[in-house]
Amino acid sequence: MSRHRNVRGYNYDEDFEDDDMYGQSVDDDYCISPATANQFIYSRRERQAPKEEPLEEEEYEVEDVHMSPTADHNLDPLNQAKLYSCLDHMRTVLGDAMPDSVLTQAAVRHGFDPQRALDAVLSEDTKTAPVTRSANEEMTSVSRVCQETTPLPQRTKQEIVAEKAKSRDLLHNKLESEVVPKVARMTVSGKKQTMGFDVPSTGENGLVVTSVRRGGSPENAAVPEATLKRPETPSKGSNGDETPSGATPGRSTGKSRQTINIKAELEKRQQGKPLLNLVVIGHVDAGKSTLMGHLLYLLGNVNKRTMHKYEQESKKAGKASFAYAWVLDETGEERDRGVTMDVGMTKFETNSKVVTLMDAPGHKDFIPNMITGAAQADVAVLVVDASRGEFEAGFEAGGQTREHALLVRSLGVTQLAVAVNKMDQVNWQQERFQEITSKLGHFLKQAGFKESDVFFVPTSGLSGENLVTRSTASQLTSWYSGPSLLEQIDAFKAPQRSVDKPFRLCVSDVFKDQGSGFCVTGKIEAGYIQTGDRILAMPPNETCTVKGITLHDEALDWAVAGDHVSLTVTGMDIIKINVGCVFCNPKEPIRACTRFRARILLFNIELPVTQGFPVLLHYQTVSEPATIRKLISVLHKSSGEVLKKKPKCLNKGMNAIVEIQTQRPVSLELYKDYKELGRFMLRYVGSTIAAGVVTEIKE
Ligand code: GDP
Repeated sequence: MSRHRNVRGYNYDEDFEDDDMYGQSVDDDYCISPATANQFIYSRRERQAPKEEPLEEEEYEVEDVHMSPTADHNLDPLNQAKLYSCLDHMRTVLGDAMPDSVLTQAAVRHGFDPQRALDAVLSEDTKTAPVTRSANEEMTSVSRVCQETTPLPQRTKQEIVAEKAKSRDLLHNKLESEVVPKVARMTVSGKKQTMGFDVPSTGENGLVVTSVRRGGSPENAAVPEATLKRPETPSKGSNGDETPSGATPGRSTGKSRQTINIKAELEKRQQGKPLLNLVVIGHVDAGKSTLMGHLLYLLGNVNKRTMHKYEQESKKAGKASFAYAWVLDETGEERDRGVTMDVGMTKFETNSKVVTLMDAPGHKDFIPNMITGAAQADVAVLVVDASRGEFEAGFEAGGQTREHALLVRSLGVTQLAVAVNKMDQVNWQQERFQEITSKLGHFLKQAGFKESDVFFVPTSGLSGENLVTRSTASQLTSWYSGPSLLEQIDAFKAPQRSVDKPFRLCVSDVFKDQGSGFCVTGKIEAGYIQTGDRILAMPPNETCTVKGITLHDEALDWAVAGDHVSLTVTGMDIIKINVGCVFCNPKEPIRACTRFRARILLFNIELPVTQGFPVLLHYQTVSEPATIRKLISVLHKSSGEVLKKKPKCLNKGMNAIVEIQTQRPVSLELYKDYKELGRFMLRYVGSTIAAGVVTEIKE
């Protein structure tokens, strides 16, 4: 029996009849308990430096900035890694204002514990400790918000709520003014594609706001009225107006188009090896890049010469332990900072699958990029660090283990392999493995994963143990006889693709290549496409022709749902296409809107959500400033029954129907029609505050 009742015109049954809704594997359809939600969403306030009086800058002696921070300390690779991680944490708070040597000394003195090292640096001489100006400003604004949460007897409740809303809006306005226009990347080549948002690298106080839209200026934001309306069906092409058998009905076709039976063609292409999109997630420094880099090396995807080059280069840079991570962390900045920023994409094969690997950034500043990666994934590998204290740091509130696991589940990933990594650090102890699996297993169940869809594999990314082949080390074989990580990936169930639905592709990158036209990359979410097809871009509601299709560096005549492709298109100006735009079948187009209704589940929120609450709407490759325009109703979390109509505010853990207004038009689908384009996350001041599904699109 459905657990949702029809209430006043909302057909919740339709919206949520699908199995793949948060938390279906547990008794409740609500992905986590509010108490749990409380724990895992990152609160930047907790990590901030003490809110002191504004601190003045001190001039430090000029030093050789190229010198490796580890040079004076003769550290072994593990401690070097810890030092880099600690410095990274410290810089998140302090920016680049303090020289490496000061931070390094504090880090070494305090056993690489970032909190203690930070406290030491700040308290040693608070008068002179420099804090970047904007970080300071942000701290002051946030502390103002904090102060206002204390009840003041002389003010009425309404006054307090109004003041909170005012300071919240001030903060958000500042953040919006910092929205960085996306500049389309101009090159994508070789084995690795990248996608994601441009994120300011300063990571000032963690208050990073990103935009994926090129042209974030007001004039670009002004959108012609026509774009907001459902587009007229474009007139048929000169020929090619026939719908081929087995193809999506209503496709507009071009001259070179040949009739194909897509399902048969797909089977032929796959040769029994279906495609699996896999995202690697986990806390920063858990060893994600090293693990996957080493796996690719063992699979022969990285040749010995290249690996040797990475080893030499990383040694020269004083980061020898990062050699395998460099296989995936390709940009200079990623290497300098020792963190993954973009979502890197690479292909490898298992016995029964072709896998597109997405290495998502673990650092909290890059969660928007992680959402992009996770939205396009079928399955996930969650990497946790088994070392004592490190697993706990990643798992506690503020660590990314919980937030990432919840995000991928909310974005539709149901199968998860947990790599319990760095087992070499704990001598492959069975007790430690069991301790981690039991703690994490409990949480993952609460987050909505079925126990039977979660698999724990002990690994060492650094030594390569249990990655591709089963380990023969007696320390492990004495208690573990399960699969290696690769065998586990191979055992994942292949996902069902929406091959029969009209074509949809959400653009993750736009760039100019040689020759005519330009290229867009993205994952085909539904339907299929052939060279010669005319496709519609929404927004801007204009058509173009597909001249070429590339999948994994190979030119093809067609591509289908699930494929991460690069399309060469002609007949349209590149300037009109932004990251986040959806290419679709012109006869059954996606709708662009600035207003839609949704059912949302609120996570841990510190301020109640009121009418006009500013948020960043994230789904697929879209990140768009928006506001909660109306609070329609509060729902019972499992029955869907309306508990309260027109609530004044929404608090943590609530299930609600709201109306959302975006600044610029976004292309969306109802969750019941296209899950992938109908589910989203809402973020506010660097924290994910809600997950939601679209229930009604307002024209
Ligand atoms: P990411 O931030 O999760 O991608 O982590 P990285 O792959 O960049 O690794 C962070 C640090 O942990 C690097 O110094 C690695 O050498 C180290 N590391 C990764 N895997 C292992 C492992 O299995 N054992 C040990 N001892 N160190 C590891």
